[in-house]
Amino acid sequence: MSVCDWCGQEMTGKVGCTVPGYMIGGQMFGRLRNEDQLPGCHDCAAPYGTLHHPGCDSETCPRCGGQAISCGCDDPPEDDPDDAEAQRIAEEYADAAADQARTEVEEAHDRAGEQWQEAAYQPAPPDPYSGGVS
Ligand SMILES: [Zn+2]
Ligand SMILES: [Zn+2]
Ligand SMILES: [Zn+2]
Repeated sequence: MSVCDWCGQEMTGKVGCTVPGYMIGGQMFGRLRNEDQLPGCHDCAAPYGTLHHPGCDSETCPRCGGQAISCGCDDPPEDDPDDAEAQRIAEEYADAAADQARTEVEEAHDRAGEQWQEAAYQPAPPDPYSGGVS
């Protein structure tokens, strides 16, 4: 049996969590109750109408209504917009450089292919052993 980090109770299927809310981005949100019918939550085993134990994959995020463990609301705030812009520009340059490099490689490849074709279509040199044998 696992024990909930927040309420310290064993997730036995008889108890819901006793922690009523938590902070997201500096704001307190009341948690949403388990709406799974009996026998309770498939993940944390909280009975119907009680609170999920944190980390449960059935817990609904009280901020965005998404899945609490994956919605990202409690992730650290986004970076400074200036940094994001600088980052975007840096990525654009990196992309352009990569495109440029790719184009050069493709052109070199094409040239090599043309040269190879020219070589392949050149008339074969006269064969000194042919002609006199038959
Ligand atoms: Zn709990
Ligand atoms: Zn649950
Ligand atoms: Zn959310």
